[in-house]
Amino acid sequence: MGRVKLYDKTFRTFIPYEKIEKAIDGVAEKVNADFRDCTDIPILLCVLNGSIMFTAELMKRLDFNCEIVSIKLSSYSGTQSTGDVRQVMGLTADITGRRIIIVEDIVDSGNTIMELRRILAAKGAASSSICTMLLKPDACRKDLHPEYVAMEIPNDFIVGFGLDYNELGRNLKDIYILDQEE
Ligand code: 5GP
Ligand code: MG
Repeated sequence: MGRVKLYDKTFRTFIPYEKIEKAIDGVAEKVNADFRDCTDIPILLCVLNGSIMFTAELMKRLDFNCEIVSIKLSSYSGTQSTGDVRQVMGLTADITGRRIIIVEDIVDSGNTIMELRRILAAKGAASSSICTMLLKPDACRKDLHPEYVAMEIPNDFIVGFGLDYNELGRNLKDIYILDQEE
């Protein structure tokens, strides 16, 4: 257990790497069970930047043929959602007629997923499902029901394993939580 300082804030270990790995094993097994016998080639949609590490860990465990497409969206500033989802980089490939598995680091307010679904529908995706590493309880209010969830967490700000505080902390192997005792 340790502490890290990123700019003005201190974070402490919240979910160690070993536990994250086990949770990803579990969620990958569920995705495999649903897609293993597919005759199409589903697309894993990596939502940059936060989803980088989770996408890499997830895809290692998948045993069906799949392709990776990326998109970059942004809505956070510091430790707060701005509520405004910006498309920083568009889809890296044509997804017309394809089944999409959205690979997200975390679903919080659900704004990002709602915007993604709008983009995917406009670009002609056949269908989309959501595979998220983390789910915060607020998401339930948006009537979002992610098909695949590795771990549920309370409504706190976390970093590590791809997630950032003003772009720092993405390289941390464990997940850290904002230390309230500062
Ligand atoms: P939503 O649009 O569902 O509110 O949030 C989605 C995005 O906001 C996530 O993909 C993630 O990039 C960012 N986000 C939400 N909660 C957190 C958090 O606790 N920590 C960090 N670092 N980013 C978060
Ligand atoms: Mg994200």
